[in-house]
Amino acid sequence: MNYISTRANYEQVSAAEAIRLGMVPTGGLFVPEKVPTFSQEEIYRMKEDSYQNIAYKILERYLTDYTDEELKDVIRSAYNDTNFDHADIAPIIKLDDKLYILELWHGPTAAFKDMALQLMPHLLIKALAKVKLDKEILILVATSGDTGKAALEGFKDVEGVKIVVFYPQGGVSEVQERQMLTTGGNNTEVIAVEGNFDDCQSVVKDIFGDDHFKELISKNGYQFSSANSINWGRLLPQIIYYFATYAYLLRDGEIKEGDKINISVPTGNFGNILAAYYAYQMGLPVNKFICASNDNKVLTDFFKTGIYDINRDFKQTISPSMDILISSNLERFLFEMTGHDADKINSYYESLNEEGKFAIDEDTKIAINDLFVGEYATEEETQKTITQVFNKFDYTLDTHTAVGVKAYQEYQKEVGDNIVAVIDSTANPYKFSKAVLESLQDIEEENEFKILKELEELTGLEIHRGLQGLEKMEIKHNRSCHSKEIREEIKEILEIE
Ligand SMILES: *Cc1c(COP(=O)(O)O)cnc(C)c1O
Repeated sequence: MNYISTRANYEQVSAAEAIRLGMVPTGGLFVPEKVPTFSQEEIYRMKEDSYQNIAYKILERYLTDYTDEELKDVIRSAYNDTNFDHADIAPIIKLDDKLYILELWHGPTAAFKDMALQLMPHLLIKALAKVKLDKEILILVATSGDTGKAALEGFKDVEGVKIVVFYPQGGVSEVQERQMLTTGGNNTEVIAVEGNFDDCQSVVKDIFGDDHFKELISKNGYQFSSANSINWGRLLPQIIYYFATYAYLLRDGEIKEGDKINISVPTGNFGNILAAYYAYQMGLPVNKFICASNDNKVLTDFFKTGIYDINRDFKQTISPSMDILISSNLERFLFEMTGHDADKINSYYESLNEEGKFAIDEDTKIAINDLFVGEYATEEETQKTITQVFNKFDYTLDTHTAVGVKAYQEYQKEVGDNIVAVIDSTANPYKFSKAVLESLQDIEEENEFKILKELEELTGLEIHRGLQGLEKMEIKHNRSCHSKEIREEIKEILEIE
């Protein structure tokens, strides 16, 4: 299996090489040249499998340059009972006959990013051995809050790797910030950036394409890679839980073989929902994908109009991990939906670069609308959904998951297909305690760590282990800079001129 660029501007590479490079050095993203498929029988048989076995079946199809032993090894290192506190790894919770929540936050950092970032570092280490690189890897991560901590945990003290995380100052929750700033390890750096997530992400992407800068750090013994979902190694593990979801629903008798499901995904960079789409291409019976956004609803508008337009104000919301205007992985999706038409992709992204928008052609739009629906939730709707679900089902949603539930409800209002729906729960509610508690009762408390305790008293839900005692942990990072100074900051960290 080889990987090709969405912009047809680079040679084909192996999986190990795609994972090492992170993104296509000349711009564009790596995608599998041909998506492997399972027969329906193979998919139904997964109901007998553990999460780890399903993981193996999927990784094996994509990572053909890794040995069986290597794959088993990375799966064992990632999906075990030290890292995850549930035997299903990603359990599904039934709210009612048609509505299920897929809990993706049972890993160490309480957000769904762990699903991929507990595995990916092991893939990268093995990739480095394969391509015999004599350089140290420098991972640059732009985060809207959750990727940062998950990547820091995944790469902490990994030999041959240094990781630098950039987050928007004031653009993440206090808990998210504290999680990052208290990370140990002798190879980790965390930097608060003046600017929003898009600023952080675009500088990091720029750096990956900056030959001059790459040469400079190369001379000093480093080579860049990425732990953002622009890296195929980040996306691939996310395909696993969609197959596991279907298998668990079958196993538990909630659906019959062949039943299609709807999947609603709270979306930011379009990585998670893209993984669901790849699962569908591989044969997973899906009826509709509901792409859920908050007030930064570029994607909702895109699915309705066929125009992707970022000429608008960036809004800070209570679901900050989705505060994104430029959803990087949409590029991969469009490449797939246009039948691998790199010319179209090049023209779309040139237009995005120059005018901040692009329009897709009518045929592509029709094909997309056949499968995808875009819905969004305002801040008020998000909080109301948290209240409603708590009162009705005694289940506590985080703000992102609430956006996913609201989008699903909107979809049902419009279409009413009454098909079993799975909503991705992308974060544990304690990660965004303030907004969650505020939805459930009036609060006066300002201190986010005290709010955690109040939320626990109200809901009876145990505080996620990754967030317990956070306020007492030592702060280990205090760097900050303007988004324009990120290159200088990197040089300083590496102690190069
Ligand atoms: C990252 C994140 C998202 C967005 O996921 P994408 O793959 O970027 O679309 C949604 N919710 C939470 C809690 C996240 O951490």
